[in-house]
Amino acid sequence: MDCEVCGKREAVAIAIVDGARLNVCETCLKFGRLEKKLFDENPERGFDSGQTELVLIDGYGRVLSAARLGKKMTVQDLCKKLNISERDIEKFESESLKPIEKIARKLERELNVKILVEE
Ligand SMILES: [Zn+2]
Repeated sequence: MDCEVCGKREAVAIAIVDGARLNVCETCLKFGRLEKKLFDENPERGFDSGQTELVLIDGYGRVLSAARLGKKMTVQDLCKKLNISERDIEKFESESLKPIEKIARKLERELNVKILVEE
């Protein structure tokens, strides 16, 4: 659910802003009065109530490709195992695309690496 004030970030709470009851993100919450905290409705995202944010480490692409090569796996092997397109895997390895957390977790598990850290 998007923030109804800025529309840019995920809403984390319901707040009264200028008399209106809106879903707001962490930033826009400051403009209103907190009415109710929203719980993560989509546990697959894995973020725990916005306390910590998971970010990809610097050089995650190199880590992924080195780990894959270390396991003597081709991009195609990985693609079949994880059900991710070859193109996406190539993009992750060249860091032109960032995997979402769910995919990053799969890659971590499969390749035995750590590419997500808490900010
Ligand atoms: Zn906002």
